[in-house]
Amino acid sequence: MIETTPSFDIFQTETTRLDQVVFDDLEFGRVFSDHMFLMEYENGAWKRGRVEPYGPFTMSPASMVFHYGQAIFEGMKAYRQSNGEVSMFRPGMNIARFNKSAVRMCMPEIPEDLFMEALAALVKLDSDWVPGGEDSALYIRPFMIATDAFVGVRASQKYAFSIFTCPVGAYYKGPVKVKVETSFTRATPGGTGFAKAAGNYAGSLYPSQKAREEGYDQLIWTDAVEHKYIEECGTMNAMFIVDGVLISPETSDTILDGVTRNSVLIVAKDLGIPVEIRRFSVVELQESLNNNTLTEAFGVGTAATIKPMSEIGINGERYPLNNPDNWKVVPWLLRELDGIRRGSIDDRFNWNIPV
Ligand SMILES: *Cc1c(COP(=O)(O)O)cnc(C)c1O
Repeated sequence: MIETTPSFDIFQTETTRLDQVVFDDLEFGRVFSDHMFLMEYENGAWKRGRVEPYGPFTMSPASMVFHYGQAIFEGMKAYRQSNGEVSMFRPGMNIARFNKSAVRMCMPEIPEDLFMEALAALVKLDSDWVPGGEDSALYIRPFMIATDAFVGVRASQKYAFSIFTCPVGAYYKGPVKVKVETSFTRATPGGTGFAKAAGNYAGSLYPSQKAREEGYDQLIWTDAVEHKYIEECGTMNAMFIVDGVLISPETSDTILDGVTRNSVLIVAKDLGIPVEIRRFSVVELQESLNNNTLTEAFGVGTAATIKPMSEIGINGERYPLNNPDNWKVVPWLLRELDGIRRGSIDDRFNWNIPV
């Protein structure tokens, strides 16, 4: 043990795997840092947690997560700063959203201070794993699963909360071709779409696979009721520049409240870019493509940051967009947001939390 805090202990590995990693060729989500955080919930309370060497769990086959899917997660990043230090980007937002997801899935919340301390301790211990290259960061994956060994549909009485991290490069290489989906549904009113609940992603795989068979990379989800309004782009929030205005569908119980979306909107307003938070229909999207008023379309999320769309498919018709290299707004937003996260542009919104 190297350290103890009021709520967890830190056990450091004796054999780092750092020398096995090729940092300039990182596949997203395949490489895991030396340590993880682990804490168990039983008899109505969280037990003492620990940071320990990254490794497998042993679980009963009857663990409820395997059968009834009580599982939630988060995704956030720590960045190598231009001065060499390491900062997490707006982790408080992810902590709050994790607890919101927990409540929706009948799971216990994590005390916010403990969550923040665990993140900071883990990232600090593995700070040599935080890459410094362009498009690189340390991806942080907190998650919680139901571990009660019980066959019967009800909320579990035991849970495991864990955090591990991955040094990552770019998520998608290049812009994405997207298809507007008007039969399958990601999230329904009254459902779990606002939560990062594992089942949401399982249900999206089949429609996404169909879109890939048609030559697209991702889906643009529409509302479940009429399939008339744009909701999200894959696992990113969707944004469009029409007539110089940045349009972003408003968040709801079917549109996840993204930290990147929130940050891009704040930066855009700060830069004087006109912003409209409102419903954006498939008809309006198609019209703006037909009359060339739509100049930029992109998804925003932690993994990819800002991902330009190179083509949009609507009811079998494919609309190519101008080359993103010639866009005006996206490169500006990306430069600004990236600069803030990496400490090369003034962090005027106090978003970076040093570890
Ligand atoms: C995680 C996620 C996003 C993006 O949220 P960020 O906080 O920006 O990473 C958007 N939509 C869905 C469905 C997501 O799961």
